Amino acid sequence: MKSHAKVVVIGGGVVGCSVLFHLARHGWTDVVLLERDELTSGSTWHAAGGMHTINGDPNVAKLQKYTISLYKEIEELSGQATGVHLTGGVLLAATEARLDWLRGVVAKGRYLGIDLEEISPNEAAELMPLLDPKQFVGAVRNKEDGHLDPSGVTHAYAKAARKLGAEVERFTKVEDIVRRPDGSWRVITNKGEVVAEHVVNAGGLWAREVGRMVGLELPVLAMEHMYLITEDMPEVAAWNQKTGTEIIHAVDFDGELYLRQERGGMLMGTYEKANKPWSEFQTPWNFGHELLEPDIDRIAPSLEVGFRHFPAFQNTGIKQIINGPFTFAPDGNPLVGPVRGLPGFWVACGVMAGFSQGGGVGLALSNWMIEGDPGADIWAMDVARYGDWATMAYTNAKVRENYSRRFSIRFPNEELPAGRPLKTTPVYDALSAKGAQWGVSYGLEVPLWYAPDAVRDEFSWRRSSDFDHVAKEVAAVRGGVGLAEISNFAKYAVTGEGAAGWLDRMLACKLPKRGRMTLAPMLKDDGRLIGDFTLANIDDGEWFIAGSGIAEQYHMRWFEAHLPKNGSVRIEALGQKLAGLAIAGPKARDVLAKVTRADVSNAAFPFMAVARMDIGMAPCLVGRVSYTGDLGYEIWVAPEYQRAAFGALMAAGEEFGIGLFGSRALNALRLEKNYGSWAREFRPIYGPLEAGLDRFVAYGKEADFIGKAAALAERKQGGKLRLRAFIVEADDADVIGDEPIWFDGTVRGWVTSGGYAHHAKRSVAMGYVPKEIADEADGFEIEILGKRHGARIQSAPLFDANFERMRA
Ligand SMILES: Cc1cc2nc3c(=O)[nH]c(=O)nc-3n(C[C@H](O)[C@H](O)[C@H](O)COP(=O)(O)OP(=O)(O)OC[C@H]3O[C@@H](n4cnc5c(N)ncnc54)[C@H](O)[C@@H]3O)c2cc1C
Repeated sequence: MKSHAKVVVIGGGVVGCSVLFHLARHGWTDVVLLERDELTSGSTWHAAGGMHTINGDPNVAKLQKYTISLYKEIEELSGQATGVHLTGGVLLAATEARLDWLRGVVAKGRYLGIDLEEISPNEAAELMPLLDPKQFVGAVRNKEDGHLDPSGVTHAYAKAARKLGAEVERFTKVEDIVRRPDGSWRVITNKGEVVAEHVVNAGGLWAREVGRMVGLELPVLAMEHMYLITEDMPEVAAWNQKTGTEIIHAVDFDGELYLRQERGGMLMGTYEKANKPWSEFQTPWNFGHELLEPDIDRIAPSLEVGFRHFPAFQNTGIKQIINGPFTFAPDGNPLVGPVRGLPGFWVACGVMAGFSQGGGVGLALSNWMIEGDPGADIWAMDVARYGDWATMAYTNAKVRENYSRRFSIRFPNEELPAGRPLKTTPVYDALSAKGAQWGVSYGLEVPLWYAPDAVRDEFSWRRSSDFDHVAKEVAAVRGGVGLAEISNFAKYAVTGEGAAGWLDRMLACKLPKRGRMTLAPMLKDDGRLIGDFTLANIDDGEWFIAGSGIAEQYHMRWFEAHLPKNGSVRIEALGQKLAGLAIAGPKARDVLAKVTRADVSNAAFPFMAVARMDIGMAPCLVGRVSYTGDLGYEIWVAPEYQRAAFGALMAAGEEFGIGLFGSRALNALRLEKNYGSWAREFRPIYGPLEAGLDRFVAYGKEADFIGKAAALAERKQGGKLRLRAFIVEADDADVIGDEPIWFDGTVRGWVTSGGYAHHAKRSVAMGYVPKEIADEADGFEIEILGKRHGARIQSAPLFDANFERMRA
């Protein structure tokens, strides 16, 4: 074993081997993979080997498509068979709601280049002869489904990597990882040490244990999973003989089953409701090529459905039941990327669909390590989407929920209950008493809307029970004044003598003067967005930043990686050390004036001013800015004072009819102002010009801010895309995001978000289209639930296009 390497990859499952291959293919060949046993000695060896392109997140779906396309290449490179059978498959719907969901999947496929087609149950039965068409209401055909040999694929990655110069050390167990003073890592094994610049944790079932070696508690948990293999079936033999082809894959979502041919019989797996975690706290090191005890009672309810939906199973025997563990993150997507606070330590774990996702994970991670950027939008897999709040118990609750719902529909207005409430703010009970319906953001409970006693969300793809109530919240804001809790924003304090200079390099905007705020895009080296913030200059050495709450860890990782080593700049993520309230609407100033002695007249406290002031008895930081696009204020307050500030504002607002509004109303309000938001409109694949944030970029400022050269180039070349707002001729359903945008009969763009703008009384959508068509007046359509609706670009905001209300 070599004593030094650029990269040590820990774990020889499908994921570690893919990472190794991609690093080597990308030119880093001084890389070694350490495996404590034979390759595949974790989850990989007993997997069912199914692969498919569809995923709830379109960016993950793209990486799945890439993974599947890779198998031919690694087979050729390595000379190792992967056993790939690209049979195609059918996705089945037994309910109308499921069919609506599948239509959304088909629509997404249109701009992702995934070939999906809606077909009838009878057509599905012609393709997959074991299903009973009477049990289904519709189906979708996917040509890119298939299965493979898990061991073959893993060895193919490893052999291809070796051919490119990478090394693989089997029977080499990593026992500890220690940081050296120069920042490199000592990887201590049972066979000696390797010093490495980078370490990748691809430990699969042992990812937690490997994480713990560097003081990291990763939010992953293994679950038991069972699939059965039948005896040979005459129906299968007859089909094979008649068509010369295998029986294709089937996913029966309502039965929570997946099926495929396995030799002369069938394989059927299920995600059972009565699921069971495996090794909740610690994975035993002596586990390897064992299987777990099958428990047929646990999967019996799913099998019953399976036998009804696929009657031929009633006449066959079960040859074997496989029960094995594999790991999940709380939301079921992988954990990939560099770990905040541990430079050179990377993770590629929690990969629950290694044969659909392993290639994409390897590609993204190797790009990230070598180029400094994953090269794709991988937010849905980024390890930074979790913070300290994702504790072991939280992970346990969420993974179990996610497993049991693997094939369940999640409606756009559906909030999942497990692991909640976890983080709450001091006004939680007061807002609950007013009917707050809670959602969750980065572990924190956030009010979505306020419901009268008997009304609750009815889960639907269409406008639902909250519609009229959200309309009332919007009307309160636009007609008088509303109050929202906004503690879910991320808040950062930046201090130190070097703060101004550092911010000038980190952020693309012009720095605001003392007492002023500005919108502040942050760019990566490639000139694309990595953040959009509000930056406030409280006092020249003291700066405050507000940004997307879900991206706190993501942004802190970036900020900290760019801090000067001399300690001249300090940045702190304030999390819930600072709570937030917002008031907005034409009467907002009257309310504020009643509760503070500060002069908040337009002259003394104009749009984008920021100052400390007391609200009632509570010391606060107040900024004159509002995401509603109305006259409004964002108020930041230490949690111990939040109730006092809330009480003072509500009492002062009474005479103006103050109403509470939640995040759904806020969404409706920001949409009619064409305001984008992070992780929807603003993502790391768009440049500021494309995203319409170029007006906040100080291209000419002296500071050589990160991404400046690339942003200038984008401005010169014009980028490729444009973010646009559309008015949609919708009927009873609005866009939810990820719908295709059609132009002149072909799919040319995609929706990032949208909804119903209650004040303007319009269904609206925001999304990206190629710049060549971005100013066309006619010809656009947006597909909602399988139906195309006319759409028109809305160039000026529907509300307050001249900024009169906002600046009044
Ligand atoms: C019953 C079952 C059916 C499945 N069906 C499918 C399917 O149809 N399709 C699909 O895509 N996925 C399926 N999966 C999931 C799939 O198996 C996983 O997604 C995949 O195997 C994860 O691979 P991995 O490399 O991340 O982890 P693992 O396979 O667990 O590999 C981790 C490796 O790291 C090694 N290791 C850990 N710690 C150390 C250390 N300290 N030093 C050295 N080596 C170490 C381990 O020995 C192991 O070999 C199934 C899983 C199960 C259990």
